[in-house]
Amino acid sequence: MATDVITRALAMPAFDYTPLPYTGPSREAVLALRREYVNPAVFTLYRDPLMIVEGKMQYVFDETGRRYLDLFAGIVTVSCGHCHPKVLRRMQEQMNALQHTTTIYLHPNLPLLAQKLASKMPPGLDVTYFVNSGSEANDLAVTMARLYTGNLDVVAVRNAYHGGSPSSMGMTSHHTWKYPLPGPAAVHHALSPDPSSQTLTGTPEEIATRAAADIRELIRFSTPGAIAAYIAEPIQGVGGVTRGAPNYFREAYAITREYGGLCIADEVQTGFGRTGEHYWGFQNYGVVPDIVTMAKGIGNGMPLAAVTTRREIAEALTRRTHFNTFGGNPVSMAAGLAVLDVIDEENLQENARVVGGRFLEGLHRLREQHPLVRHVRGLGLMLGVELADPITGAPASAPALEVLEAAREMGVLLGKGGLDGNVLRIKPPLCITAEDVDFALDVLDRALERAAHPGT
Ligand code: PMP
Repeated sequence: MATDVITRALAMPAFDYTPLPYTGPSREAVLALRREYVNPAVFTLYRDPLMIVEGKMQYVFDETGRRYLDLFAGIVTVSCGHCHPKVLRRMQEQMNALQHTTTIYLHPNLPLLAQKLASKMPPGLDVTYFVNSGSEANDLAVTMARLYTGNLDVVAVRNAYHGGSPSSMGMTSHHTWKYPLPGPAAVHHALSPDPSSQTLTGTPEEIATRAAADIRELIRFSTPGAIAAYIAEPIQGVGGVTRGAPNYFREAYAITREYGGLCIADEVQTGFGRTGEHYWGFQNYGVVPDIVTMAKGIGNGMPLAAVTTRREIAEALTRRTHFNTFGGNPVSMAAGLAVLDVIDEENLQENARVVGGRFLEGLHRLREQHPLVRHVRGLGLMLGVELADPITGAPASAPALEVLEAAREMGVLLGKGGLDGNVLRIKPPLCITAEDVDFALDVLDRALERAAHPGT
C-alpha cells in the first residue's frame, strides 16, 4: 500500500446535506425487537448490525447521523439515488390522488409505463405484465414460456440467482439459497461460461462455446428433446459478477431456439443502464431475448417488477385468468415512470459507463498491489472483486467479510456474493461521482491491507 494512502486521512467527498435528527427507538432496541419478533431467517450483513435511517442520493445515514457511501444500493435497487427528489415527488403526487385500485379499472400510469418500457426494448418486445418482485417476474416468464411452447423443461445456468419463491428457487443455482424441498419440475443447470470459475479450460471464447454446448447436451440427455426456455442473467449478480465471453449468449440463444425454447433475459440487476455501454445487459452481446424480466432498479426502491415480451407469447396467459393484486399499482407505476425519466435526464447510463470505467481501472491497480485479489471484473457500475488465498488459491471468504467490515468502519458499504461469499460486489446508485470512486478505492486499499494482515 502506498505510504501516502496510509498517512492521508480518508475524507469522504463533501456533500451538502444534513440528516434530520433521529428520534426513533435506539439501534439496540430495534435489534432486540428483530431478535424477538422477526423470523430469524431475516439476516443482517455486519457483525454488529448497521441501522440506516435516512438516505440521500448515493449516501445513507445511520441513527447517529454518520454518513456512508452506499456501494450496494439496497442490493442493486436504488438506481437513481436514495430519496431522489423527482421520484419522490411523482410518488407523493400519486399517493395524494390515488394509492390503489388494482388493474380491474383503468389508470393511465400502468399503460404509460408499459409504453415507456416498450420504447426502450428492441422492436417486438412491447407488452408488459407488472408484478412486485424479481422472483415473481421470473416465475411468470417461465409460466408464459411453458404455455406458449407447450414444453416443460427449463435450462438455467449454474451459479445463477433468479429468486427465492419455490419456482424461482428452482432456477437459482447455489446450494446456499436452496432448501431440501421439492422444487419445480424440469429445471436443469448448464455449465457456467465464466472463465474465472475454472470449471472449463481454454480461452474465454472456447469456454463460452463449451458452456453453450452444454445446453444442447442437457436438452438431448435430460429432456424430451425440446424445452420451454433458457433463462440467464447477462451478468450473474448474486453469483459474484460473473459472465462469459461475448460469444456465449449468441451461441446459447441459437441452441435454445433450435430446440423450440424461448430465451429469457433476467435483467433484474443488469437493466436500466447499469452496465454503462447499453441500457440492457443483453445488448452487450448483440442478442435479442424473447422475454425480459426486470425488478430492483426499475422502482428505485418501490416493490416493482415487470415482464416484457412479444404479444403472441403474452397471449398464452389469457387462456385462464391471471391476476396480481399489487402489480401495476399506480404509486409503483409513478415511481417507474419517474425512474425511467431520471435515468435519461441525468445521463445515468453514461455516468455508469464513465465512472464505472474509472472504478474498474482503480480496481485493476489494487489487484496489482494486493495478492488477496484474484480477479476484478464487471461492466459499468456492476463490478466484482474476487478474493482468493494467494498461496492455495482457495476462495477467501473470511477475508471478504473482513474487507466488508473494515470498509464499513471507514464509511463505505459494500456487498458480497459468489457461491463461496468471496466476491466483493460494487453496485452503487448510478449517480455516484468520480470523487466517490476515488474515495472508495482508497478505502478498499486499506480494507484489503487490513484483511490480509488481521490485527494490524
Ligand atoms: N433475479 C436476479 C438476477 C436477482 O438478483 C434477484 C434478487 N437478488 C432476483 C431475480 C429476485 O428478485 P426479488 O428478490 O425481488 O424476488
